[in-house]
Amino acid sequence: MDCREVREYLPAYVDEAGGPRAQSIEMHLSTCPECRTELGHFREMKDALATLPARMIEPPAWLLGTLTETVVQKAARREAIRNTAEKLADPKVIVTGSLVAAGVAGALLIRGRRRRRRTVTRRFREALAEA
Ligand SMILES: [Zn+2]
Repeated sequence: MDCREVREYLPAYVDEAGGPRAQSIEMHLSTCPECRTELGHFREMKDALATLPARMIEPPAWLLGTLTETVVQKAARREAIRNTAEKLADPKVIVTGSLVAAGVAGALLIRGRRRRRRTVTRRFREALAEA
């Protein structure tokens, strides 16, 4: 392991020494004073956090209701998105959607040509009227 890898795992190592990467980390620490210093900082931080008082706070009743409602709404929205995605992935829907898109594109193309033709016709009439 190099310094970058070791530093990535140091917070977990401080929390739970003897994890799956402990041997590799300890081997690196035995040769790298910079990472040992970094480990010292994490240990100091952990000790400082342990001195902070812990308090259980009972949430107000209105907050619990709001949170529950929000979670239910998000779950329903996620379910709706999943259902829509499944429907869109259906081959029948893809073919139908492609046909509709082709139809709309064709209609826009025809409409554009008619409009261009009308403009040319109007200009021609105006030119005739001026002549
Ligand atoms: Zn190192």
